[in-house]
Amino acid sequence: MSKKIAVVGGGISGLTAAYRLMNEGCDVSLFEKKEQGGGAIRTGKEEGYLFEYGPNSTMNSNDEIDQLCKLLGLEDERVFGRAVSKKRYVVRYGRPIATPAGLMGFIKSDLWTASGKLRIFKDIFVGRHKGGEESVADYVRRRVGKELLDYGLDPFVSGVYAGDPEKLSLKSTFPKMAALEEEYGSIIRGAIKKGLKGGPKSTRQKGIFSFKEGMDVLPKALTDALAERFRGGTAVEGIKKNKGRYLLTLTGGEYTEADEVILSSPAYINSKIISSLSPEASRLLKGIEYAPLVIVYLGFNRKDVAHPLDGFGCLIPGKEGKKLLGSLWNSSMFPGRVPEGKVCLTNFVGGARNPSIVDRSDKEILSTIMTDLNALFGVKGDPTFIKIIKHKKAIPQYNLGHGKKLDALSRAMDSLPGIHLLGNYLQGVSVADCVKNGVEMAMKVKKRVG
Ligand SMILES: Cc1cc2nc3c(=O)[nH]c(=O)nc-3n(C[C@H](O)[C@H](O)[C@H](O)COP(=O)(O)OP(=O)(O)OC[C@H]3O[C@@H](n4cnc5c(N)ncnc54)[C@H](O)[C@@H]3O)c2cc1C
Repeated sequence: MSKKIAVVGGGISGLTAAYRLMNEGCDVSLFEKKEQGGGAIRTGKEEGYLFEYGPNSTMNSNDEIDQLCKLLGLEDERVFGRAVSKKRYVVRYGRPIATPAGLMGFIKSDLWTASGKLRIFKDIFVGRHKGGEESVADYVRRRVGKELLDYGLDPFVSGVYAGDPEKLSLKSTFPKMAALEEEYGSIIRGAIKKGLKGGPKSTRQKGIFSFKEGMDVLPKALTDALAERFRGGTAVEGIKKNKGRYLLTLTGGEYTEADEVILSSPAYINSKIISSLSPEASRLLKGIEYAPLVIVYLGFNRKDVAHPLDGFGCLIPGKEGKKLLGSLWNSSMFPGRVPEGKVCLTNFVGGARNPSIVDRSDKEILSTIMTDLNALFGVKGDPTFIKIIKHKKAIPQYNLGHGKKLDALSRAMDSLPGIHLLGNYLQGVSVADCVKNGVEMAMKVKKRVG
């Protein structure tokens, strides 16, 4: 009899793992709490505007995501960001400044002062860190100076991870950056040596992408491919051991048995699901923090926005004293996002440094955003379209101690052979990372079931 595999959670991580297991001929079922799969990935379409509840795009940063799109026949649906999306802005002195490209661009840029730029080169002489785990902020300050932290890493960290660089662990959040110091003793030396060596050759198209009809094309294609193996509207409430197998309690008092279980729901849900099997793993999972995020998607008449919006978007450093973390300009990046004569800005507020904003009313949030948009991008007039989406637990935070927590979690899970953890709180938050980890998990479980 073939071994049964249950995947819990139909976000991109679980969907990818289940799809790859299905392709390997395994007997797999996926249980998803909501009717629809996709988790954080969801696209909305109203009044001619196409907006995203979660990710707006992802990097084609690994072969796994590239191949997944090809396997699903989505090549003609995929859209890479227009050339303009390579341009990114960061706010300094209260105005958006384009981030420089290349060495000459860096030298000429207004984004950093002359002394701030010179300080970066001290990196070559700064020794390796001795002592315990370092935060992202401590590492950047120590190696390349405070100004690059404030107007380089800080906006990136709050824009991408909704995180606080003083709390985030360097090793868990940016392992490649930590490795540059470990291997080469310097970021600059490491980057040059790695550049000279060159990476593995890949034919993969570089850059960010979405789909003509939005990001949820990917989870929809996976759900369709899984067909009856996808059990939408079916939450898993608990797991028990039962004669060498696992018994999963589903919504409505239903049960199902499995030999292997991939838990790809969020950490705080997995904590509840396995609480009776391993109180220690449950405790560790519960301790993983998530930052809240509010998306304020706004449409405007083109003439009401003074800024050309000629780029991917703009990030706002904490030092600038704005509530806005960042603003993405999807109508500049991808076709078909807005009606004729309009533009859209996907704005983010909240994050680890301003978590309480998620509890404010939509009216208050909108008014705060409009003040910032007016000052930064010359936005006048009322928005023609408004969508405010609140995520109380948006992005897992790889804070100091995260690595140790994961090591302890892995030891606790050793007592539960056949139960596997998967998801964005483990090894990367981007959609592309989740796909890569989903594929790797499928291959690991395939080996176990033979
Ligand atoms: C607002 C926001 C913006 C983002 N922007 C970007 C971006 O621009 N680019 C990028 O690459 N990444 C971005 N990300 C990150 C990325 O989208 C996520 O990390 C990724 O989609 C997470 O996928 P996942 O499958 O691990 O988890 P999730 O998407 O959280 O999926 C978990 C699933 O488990 C289900 N579930 C919960 N409880 C149960 C239960 N008891 N039983 C069964 N199922 C259950 C949930 O309903 C959900 O479908 C963003 C995330 C957010 C929230």
